[in-house]
Amino acid sequence: MIDTHSHIYSEEFDSDRAEAILRAKNSGISQIILPNVDSESLPQMLALEAEYPHYCYAAIGLHPTSVKESYREELALIKSELERRSWIAVGEIGIDLYWDKTFLSEQIITFQQQLEWALEYKIPVIIHVRDSFSETMQALQPYRNSGLKGVFHSFTGSVEDAREIIEFGGFLLGINGIVTFKNSGLAETIKQIDLKHLLIETDSPYLTPAPHRGKRNESAYTLLVANKLAEIYSCSLQQIDEQTTLNAKSLFAI
Ligand SMILES: [Zn+2]
Repeated sequence: MIDTHSHIYSEEFDSDRAEAILRAKNSGISQIILPNVDSESLPQMLALEAEYPHYCYAAIGLHPTSVKESYREELALIKSELERRSWIAVGEIGIDLYWDKTFLSEQIITFQQQLEWALEYKIPVIIHVRDSFSETMQALQPYRNSGLKGVFHSFTGSVEDAREIIEFGGFLLGINGIVTFKNSGLAETIKQIDLKHLLIETDSPYLTPAPHRGKRNESAYTLLVANKLAEIYSCSLQQIDEQTTLNAKSLFAI
């Protein structure tokens, strides 16, 4: 089982990161994908990846909430990192209009620049969407049939949104603890979507699944998301594990 989205390098884990990784291993998590945020998160993320080779895999990208006046410098760093070594994905990237709409045009420029780089370096993208589904789909339009592939991480949209993503081609939906929240409606939505389109993730330290909602999230809780999917699809945990792991391995080539 793979946690396809975890910020376990963040300071929330400074006091017990090794224990959190051990708990993940003991819960059957075979790999953890680390999406970058910006120039500040990069050193911690690289240090964690170096400490756990073939277990933690870093992606490189500029998160939409970090797109500010300095976005050109931040993008230059991403480009130099892409040239410096190989990466599992470009991420996380996208559009976020929940926290701040001030830099919408810069967010779109930054998003599309990083989509170009993903194509250039032939790696998938990890997309973050918050209150911006139509803007994100519009920004993606020039890349239809380009061979671009990736994941809409933390998917929380409607059945129509899910179908639009699947119809676009090349993209999976990342499902996390939100699916365990009774008021999210996400369980009813994804019931109508084939399991071959899904990835599982935690987005730790955020979005902690029930019954730990409100506490810090960690990669071991990927298992709680998988258990919920087994309940939704009326199948075994093993079937969920096999299909979502296969989906993750083929997208990220790990
Ligand atoms: Zn994230």
